[in-house]
Amino acid sequence: MTNTISRRGVVGGAGAGMLGVAAAAAPAFAKDAQTMTDAAPLQDPSSKYPKPPFERQSQPWPGLASKMNPRPDHGEQSYKGSGRLTGRKALITGGDSGMGRAAAIAFAREGADVAINYLPAEEEDAQDVIKLIKDAGRNGVAIPGDLRDEQFCKQLVERAVESLGGLDIVVNNAARQQTRASILDVSSEDFDATMKTNIYAPFWIIKAALPHLKPGSCIIGTSSEQAADPSPDLYDYAQTKAATTNYVRSLAKQLAPKGIRVNAVAPGPIWTPLQVSGGATMEKLEKFGSMAPMGRPGQPAELGSIYVQLAASDASYATGQVYGAMGGGGLP
Ligand code: NAD
Ligand code: MG
Repeated sequence: MTNTISRRGVVGGAGAGMLGVAAAAAPAFAKDAQTMTDAAPLQDPSSKYPKPPFERQSQPWPGLASKMNPRPDHGEQSYKGSGRLTGRKALITGGDSGMGRAAAIAFAREGADVAINYLPAEEEDAQDVIKLIKDAGRNGVAIPGDLRDEQFCKQLVERAVESLGGLDIVVNNAARQQTRASILDVSSEDFDATMKTNIYAPFWIIKAALPHLKPGSCIIGTSSEQAADPSPDLYDYAQTKAATTNYVRSLAKQLAPKGIRVNAVAPGPIWTPLQVSGGATMEKLEKFGSMAPMGRPGQPAELGSIYVQLAASDASYATGQVYGAMGGGGLP
């Protein structure tokens, strides 16, 4: 018998003239049926997670996942690995919360050792992630520091390589997003901080990482629906996401002959600290995700497997691609 047999099929078979046998063998049969049929129940994605309205909430930037209401789901209870990244060594920026944390959990459960970068103010979220990586039996390395600093970006890569014993997956995921109603409200300091975090840091990190990346390695950026459909209040942030999609496509062409793949994930509205620490207005937050056809925001857990797919070596022909997860709206 194969393990594709359905629960209904097994129960139906027992009912048709096998009663005596089934009754005698009931406990063993029930147990076998259980192990043969652990197909996960179908879940309606539109009602799988909380929908708006959400409670108004604000945290000082960069915010903590642990203080959000409801708490985001990063796959802590749900992600199951199957050895897809066994022995890989990954560096993930913004690995403490949101998409970066979902990727860190998924990578570790797929067998990768993972270094995460984050800001010192996020130590609490980061330590939760390190514990989850270690619980998966993998090496988890915490490297706090500010990506707006070129020297730090170089050190970050060197420290990741040293502590992991190499590097073959680089996820440039950290970003700054601060809502400003008008371009007149965007100061030069604001603009500079957004460009440094979202555009310069991946540039510095990739340059530092490249000498360590062997054929078969990969780079993943986190872009956004904002790359193609920018919001009026995200003038500076949205253009950095267009830049992310663009560098992924350019670098994919440049690095394909070297055997290094470069791809991006483009999320729609996702429930993360970015949104509650200045990324969205209170009005937007209350209705967060309501514009998506799914009628709700996504949770980081719903994107973890996408980072895995792009990193896995069986996706060897996928490079220069942008994989969207937007609840039915937008364009990657
Ligand atoms: P998040 O707040 O959980 O993650 C962003 C992380 O960036 C922070 O945890 C922080 O560690 C890091 N960071 C910011 N500035 C930094 C700096 N100067 N130095 C070091 N680290 C810094 O939010 P998230 O939504 O998971 O964001 C992850 C990625 O997803 C970002 O690239 C963001 O643009 C993208 N994204 C988010 C959404 C969304 O709706 N949440 C939608 C599309 C794209
Ligand atoms: Mg964070």
